[in-house]
Amino acid sequence: MPRLQNILTFDVEDWPQSTLDLSLPLTPRVRDNTHRVLDLLAGVGVRGTFFVLGLVAETFPDLVRRIREGGHELASHGYSHRPVHGMRPEEFRTDLRRSIASIEDAGGTRVLGYRAPDFSILARDWWALEIMAEEGLRYDSSIFPFAGPRYGVRAAFALPFQVLSASGSKFVEFPLTTVECLGVRLPAAGGGYFRLAPYCVSRAAIARLNRRGAPATCYFHPYEMDAEEIARSRQAIPWSLRLSQGLMRARVAGKLRRLLGDFSWCPAGDWLGRPGEATGGRALDLTPWPGSEPRWLVREVAS
Ligand SMILES: [Zn+2]
Repeated sequence: MPRLQNILTFDVEDWPQSTLDLSLPLTPRVRDNTHRVLDLLAGVGVRGTFFVLGLVAETFPDLVRRIREGGHELASHGYSHRPVHGMRPEEFRTDLRRSIASIEDAGGTRVLGYRAPDFSILARDWWALEIMAEEGLRYDSSIFPFAGPRYGVRAAFALPFQVLSASGSKFVEFPLTTVECLGVRLPAAGGGYFRLAPYCVSRAAIARLNRRGAPATCYFHPYEMDAEEIARSRQAIPWSLRLSQGLMRARVAGKLRRLLGDFSWCPAGDWLGRPGEATGGRALDLTPWPGSEPRWLVREVAS
């Protein structure tokens, strides 16, 4: 029996621009670090989804082409890394369209998915999912289903679910993977959590999900494999940020290679061909909203 395929994703952005100051020019490190990731994936024969910032696609179109030529999926990470909850709906629509156009121009392939910068779709931002569906996207992967200090939607399903939008289009959400520990959901498989926690935490979380027949959705950044970036930066970087964002970067590539070997992986878009299997009857019903609260439905929707 083939192993269940988990969802492998990368957010392609330049760390100083996305984290320190959105007005900074991009550095070539985003290109070089992403090439390193592509080399790693080619070496182990794994494909994934690359959520690319529109600004990166405009600045480094060759990089976007190489992602596509490697058999990976291209998706949007917004245009300039502005958080969704800081935008009005029409600003978000403009940002989304601009990012999609940049990526499609560079990559020559259709964009179907989106991930919000810093997982910035919170419980009051469901309108963003409606706009994505209206703009022709087929899925989102921005919801972190835990009660985080900066982001997260505690009420959300922890596993993939359908979004029933007013436009009637089929739309799927792939929430980021969490693990439940003593009744509390904790992030388990990506970003700083993967970098700082022991490898066995992510492995156990993914194995547990796979035993339940559900895929994990994991996320990484190419810059997390750049151990020298923060030390060499000429920007003023607070020590708290140097530690939280820079610690143990040198170990990420090795841990990721191990993770890719221990489980089976695919791009998020591959699951769109079997939506019922992915979402298991879970749905967020936006159709009565914004007149009333969105409804979380379980096993009431035909897949
Ligand atoms: Zn990002």
